[in-house]
Amino acid sequence: MARIRVLAAASEVYPLVKTGGLADVAGALPKALAAEDVAVTTLVPGYPAVMQALPNAETALSLDDLFGGSARVLRGNAAALDVFVLDAPHLFARAGNPYMGPDGRDWNDNAFRFAAFAQVAARIAGGAMRGYQPDLVHAHDWQAGLVPAYLHYAGGSVPPSVITAHNLAFQGLFPREVLPALGLPPDAYSVDGVEYYGNVGYLKAGLQFADRITTVSPTYAQEITTPQDGMGLDGLLRRRASVLSGILNGIDVDVWNPATDTYIASNYDAEHLAARAANTAALQQRLGLDADPNALCIGVISRLTEQKGLDLLIDVLGHVLSTGAQLAMLGAGDGALERTFSGAAKANPGRIGVVIGYDEPLAHQIQAGASALLVPSRFEPCGLTQLCALRYGAVPVVARVGGLADTVIHANEMALAAGVATGIQFAPPAAEPLEHALAHTAELFRDRTAWSRMQANGMRADVSWRRPAHRYANLYRELAV
Ligand code: ADP
Repeated sequence: MARIRVLAAASEVYPLVKTGGLADVAGALPKALAAEDVAVTTLVPGYPAVMQALPNAETALSLDDLFGGSARVLRGNAAALDVFVLDAPHLFARAGNPYMGPDGRDWNDNAFRFAAFAQVAARIAGGAMRGYQPDLVHAHDWQAGLVPAYLHYAGGSVPPSVITAHNLAFQGLFPREVLPALGLPPDAYSVDGVEYYGNVGYLKAGLQFADRITTVSPTYAQEITTPQDGMGLDGLLRRRASVLSGILNGIDVDVWNPATDTYIASNYDAEHLAARAANTAALQQRLGLDADPNALCIGVISRLTEQKGLDLLIDVLGHVLSTGAQLAMLGAGDGALERTFSGAAKANPGRIGVVIGYDEPLAHQIQAGASALLVPSRFEPCGLTQLCALRYGAVPVVARVGGLADTVIHANEMALAAGVATGIQFAPPAAEPLEHALAHTAELFRDRTAWSRMQANGMRADVSWRRPAHRYANLYRELAV
């Protein structure tokens, strides 16, 4: 098999720059793909943190005028990743978040910042850089959404493209007035082009023109073709269903490894589950929960937003407490949810422990100490916390949506009889089914043999990037013939 060269375009790459799951994928996938003989070079904007990580990069391409300033593409290596950095100080040399100013508002030139980013990716793909010609381009999310559009309108011989939508809730919509500055032909502004209900839609453009569309789980790939979950793009996605597929994300199984994790009180594996008890005790102490080795301790690690469905948990808190369970929660986001959960913790000392904020070590400690991990999302493109939970023996209790449906084997009677269950699913994401699921969880927890079996099953499941990388490699090979 011939080696395939892929130019990836991603606005975030872990560990260089991260605000969400896209960064994890863009950071992990190239390493896993190396084993498949796929060489990925990732174009990333030259945010200050990225520039600092590549002090010795060489100039591979110079651009006299890129949306109002000169720019360079640097080539280098950072954190074991082969990267091109778009060094365009007038667009990217800004402190703080990649998308927002210090006042929390989007930069008012985001349309041009990410058009520039996409245009440079398309130029490199089209052969602008001496000595580098990719076999295909892989664009990630709205920030790179215009790459397939630029390739399409460039015409001639251009490599094929793939776009991955990590979450359809983020679409990169801009007023139609930006169009003349983008360097696209005027007729691009149509429903068969980059128009999206009177705006220019960057993700829409990518979905329209890429040769293949992927999203991060098979169930989400199907869900987004429905009006309920398609966020206005379902019509387009139905039309392009033959090139749409879902490939699950993996997790970094070295970072998330209970046998070596240095954040947790006691290391363990599937054969030594008893050693997990010390983590439960440590978690209970940390969150002010009653020291009770036999309590069902339900963990939550989440952004507190509408998507994540934690308002449903508020509706059933009384029931949770009546079963004798504890709640160990880490989250941040919506102010009203933060206040409600903090208030519930104050009102129920010893039973509900809440930390508001972003705390990586505590996330590991909850995975290692909680009995179960609750993910009641209304929609979930893939979801990572349930994958970490499987690996850590925290039995996932999840809404049967998106990637949650694809990664947890529900403990129905036959799955239990066959000894293959790894968690509990409920549907639809609403208070009553959630209450039933938590009652079911409490019942299963009392059967320690069945529970330990579920934990061990989850811990033995392969949640690494190995399988996903193989699927991406197959997709690339189909395209790059
Ligand atoms: P999303 O990307 O939609 O927020 P995912 O489940 O795909 O949800 O990924 C969330 C990641 O962020 C997980 O690795 C999780 O552990 C982490 N995380 C979420 N909230 C927090 C928090 N408050 N503190 C620490 N880690 C968090």
